[in-house]
Amino acid sequence: MVAGIHRPTKAVIDCDAIRWNISQEKKRLPEDTLLYAVVKADGYGHGAVQTAKAARQAGANGFCVALLDEALELREAGITEPIFILGIVEAAYADLMAEQQLSVAVSSLEWLQEAEQVLREKTTVYPLIVHFAIDSGMGRIGLKTAEEIQQCEAYVRQSSHLYLEGVFTHFATADEKDDQLFQLQQSRFCQLIKSFVKKPEIVHTANSATALFHQSFSSNIVRFGIALYGLNPSGNQLSTPYSLKPALQLKSRLIFVKQMSEGETVGYGATYRAKEGEWIGTVPIGYADGWTRGLQGQTVLVEGERCEIVGRVCMDQCMIRLPQEKPVGTEVVLIGKSGTDEITMQEIAEKLHTIHYEVACLLSSRIPRTYE
Ligand code: PLP
Repeated sequence: MVAGIHRPTKAVIDCDAIRWNISQEKKRLPEDTLLYAVVKADGYGHGAVQTAKAARQAGANGFCVALLDEALELREAGITEPIFILGIVEAAYADLMAEQQLSVAVSSLEWLQEAEQVLREKTTVYPLIVHFAIDSGMGRIGLKTAEEIQQCEAYVRQSSHLYLEGVFTHFATADEKDDQLFQLQQSRFCQLIKSFVKKPEIVHTANSATALFHQSFSSNIVRFGIALYGLNPSGNQLSTPYSLKPALQLKSRLIFVKQMSEGETVGYGATYRAKEGEWIGTVPIGYADGWTRGLQGQTVLVEGERCEIVGRVCMDQCMIRLPQEKPVGTEVVLIGKSGTDEITMQEIAEKLHTIHYEVACLLSSRIPRTYE
């Protein structure tokens, strides 16, 4: 999708905020614990390369992505630090990952066998770096038994094409008050890693929530995602040990302003009926931008005042009720600060009955990202 650079709607990313969030976390970590910035899904909608560069300036030691293509994007942009691919990549690309010196999650012996076959045929210079994923209760990917771990370890150790660098797990409820499943996962993981003949040098378990809310985690890499963007992984259930600075603001400008007569309607389905003399402004953002129809009734900020989105959100535009006439070109803040008020990503998430992760990822590539 082409970015609308000739339209006043933009996501403004504060790189200082990213640097601040990372440096606060780095300060709390033991010296031998590394921080990998998670920049999958285009840096949770913030821009992967720019986020990675800001994170690197603040001391990030490596990066995590979900797709091979996301790792390649970082390499192409000159990121030479370690990159770990969190998800399963088809074994057919083992040589490409080895060549680019990427590390990847492994969940089965079959995958290792297939990858080794590929690597043997392609005579790649570097071995493929693998981290065993352990499914301790997330129910997504990973080895589940001591037997599977032993078989995979034995297989990797006899291969000159594969290098076992790490083992990891992922917690399903690290962001929740109730830590029963968290504790269970942790003890399963600790038990399972005893099955290695030789434990890999890197053992990692911590996402943002684990790093922020659990002192007892055993990790020598923190996979720091949502918190680097300044968002509390628990929404507002748990308070963070330091204040996070949100990195993204979503802004636009009034593109059209008009005064309504009594009973005139606004938008598809004519769901809003104006009162006599009301001022309605049109904002150039809609559901094709990820500003979804569920946001009808949400407020946005115009010169520090809350204005309601009235009528249905259209594909490219939405309409807001203004307190009085405002000139075309007046700034509209959809996420971020204006005057003394602030609309947080969490507020938008609550309106949409979802999580801020999804709100950030939904902002489409039609919205240009600018960096400060
Ligand atoms: N580790 C894994 C395996 C993940 O899947 C994710 C994100 O989904 C992360 C770390 C980062 O999580 P967060 O953004 O909550 O820090």
